[in-house]
Amino acid sequence: MSGHKYVIVGGVAGGMSAAARLRRLDEQCEIIVLEQGPAVSFASCGLPYFVGGEIEDEAELLVQTPQSLRDALNIDVRLHHRVVELDAAAHLVKVVTPNGQQDISYDQLILSPGTVAARPPIDGLDHPSVHTLRTVADASVVRELVTAGAKHAVVLGAGFIGLEAAEGLHLRGVDVTLLEAAPHVLPPLEVEMAWLVGQELRRLGMDVREGVAVTAITDDQGRAVVHLADGQTVVADLVLLSAGTVPASAVFKAGGVACNDRGAIIVDDQGHTNLIDVWAVGDVTVSRDAVTGALRPVPLAGPAQRAGRLVADAIAGSGRARPFPEPLATAIVRVGDLTAAMTGANRMGLDAAGMPFTTLHLHPLNHAGYFPGGSQIHLMVHIDPVTGRLLGAQAVGKAGVDKRIDVLATALRAGLAAQDLIDLDLCYSPPYGSAKDAVTMVGFLADNVLTGQTALWQPDEVDWARQQAFVLDVRTPAEFATGHLPEAVNIAHTQVRARLDEVIALAGGRPIAVMCQSGVRSYLAHRILVAAGLTSRTLSGGMLTLRAWLGGQADAVLVKGDKQ
Ligand code: NAD
Repeated sequence: MSGHKYVIVGGVAGGMSAAARLRRLDEQCEIIVLEQGPAVSFASCGLPYFVGGEIEDEAELLVQTPQSLRDALNIDVRLHHRVVELDAAAHLVKVVTPNGQQDISYDQLILSPGTVAARPPIDGLDHPSVHTLRTVADASVVRELVTAGAKHAVVLGAGFIGLEAAEGLHLRGVDVTLLEAAPHVLPPLEVEMAWLVGQELRRLGMDVREGVAVTAITDDQGRAVVHLADGQTVVADLVLLSAGTVPASAVFKAGGVACNDRGAIIVDDQGHTNLIDVWAVGDVTVSRDAVTGALRPVPLAGPAQRAGRLVADAIAGSGRARPFPEPLATAIVRVGDLTAAMTGANRMGLDAAGMPFTTLHLHPLNHAGYFPGGSQIHLMVHIDPVTGRLLGAQAVGKAGVDKRIDVLATALRAGLAAQDLIDLDLCYSPPYGSAKDAVTMVGFLADNVLTGQTALWQPDEVDWARQQAFVLDVRTPAEFATGHLPEAVNIAHTQVRARLDEVIALAGGRPIAVMCQSGVRSYLAHRILVAAGLTSRTLSGGMLTLRAWLGGQADAVLVKGDKQ
């Protein structure tokens, strides 16, 4: 490969990983990185934390400089170089530089231009108070606005950047209104998980509005007036636009690079585009979802960096490189005292792929209950209803969420069935976990469900339970009084054996929908009922899950006080 000339477009996660790996593979080659911005290798994932002040110094965000890359890796980084045309037949790109336009030839071209902020069709989005959080310069502007006294911010879009930015602004004492067009914040999360996140945002004092579209932004003496579809307005000193991303592929598409209908570049499992000697990695590309097989971009830093390394192996390595992994879109975000994380498919993805699934909800403690400081992890897992294959997992909690989702992501990658989780040897001592870890419990529950030892009803079957079943709530009377389904009869699980005749009479031949607080005691009751020959199902995740599922409707549906 000696003497080869590699040109890389885009100098952040994917591009710089490719450049660095190319050098390690080929000491003689020429590596040119073209970056339209003023910096390469900056920590884009760190920007919200710079806004919030947890990262104090802007220099911390600049992980490498052109000089450090020249010194360590002999990479020729050219800042303020914007590619405006690809001539693949001639093997060159046309580049606008501070010194005029240039043609730069290549032997192999790697495209890693990333994405640009999506700009929904909202009148007035060009108001001077509207900012994005994509670059170090963006983050500096937002930080300066806060320092200069911005009091109220609207965050437009409650996805990952929106949540992280909202938290950063909140940490700086800014009042935040968070607007989300989808029915709940962080749309990839399931509704019963997202409700917990939304409540945490509200606990922090944020004004969270879900399911509401922004129609226009107007001006009032320099402040932005954000108009909502429900007729309300919110006045803000700062509007942070975090409504998703769009692949920055237009120039390359014009040059013949095949893209999908949303502009994401189509690559094979080595990163090769449809054009000879043109490769692409990172947020701009389409990848195949590991669970559903859906083709979609997964704009996350981890997959981009791995693809950068692997494309270099494919181009300059000896032998066939490892194929790009199909992403599980494993992601995590901190929101106040909570962490929310996910891996694999959610209900929407599984439904779209026509894949049947069973959902398990659990609320285990992050470590042994007798050791002080334990906190609940709200965990849900989708599994194949026949084989138990793990399809997706999500968790929200104060501690230990990252560990459980990482273990489950590893299990998903390995193609494990949920029952196989029983066999995992996970580290344990009381400050860290439980002898039966949260992940082990997923295995136990899955095994029970798949073998018929337990039968579940899901929160979306609440109408079935209320209208067609006998709802037996086996919590204590005190718990029952805090809120229960209007039709429920309360018999604590410890009394179910003794009061079986009463249960049979009350059920009157209907199936029994058993429920408790988290799903553990209702499982005990379920086994008693089944042993008595009754048809019973236990509520997955219990009242904790049902409340989160009902969300803002919970107080209207549930009634307080006792009823026996
Ligand atoms: P996103 O796709 O995560 O979220 C965009 C949000 O904006 C969505 O919830 C969407 O429903 C909402 N939205 C879209 N149009 C809207 C409108 N008109 N009004 C109100 N809401 C609207 O995108 P992002 O937050 O901009 O982040 C960009 C990418 O960066 C994401 O794909 C994300 O995966 C990645 N990222 C990940 C992390 C992490 O994993 N911790 C952190 C930051 C960014």
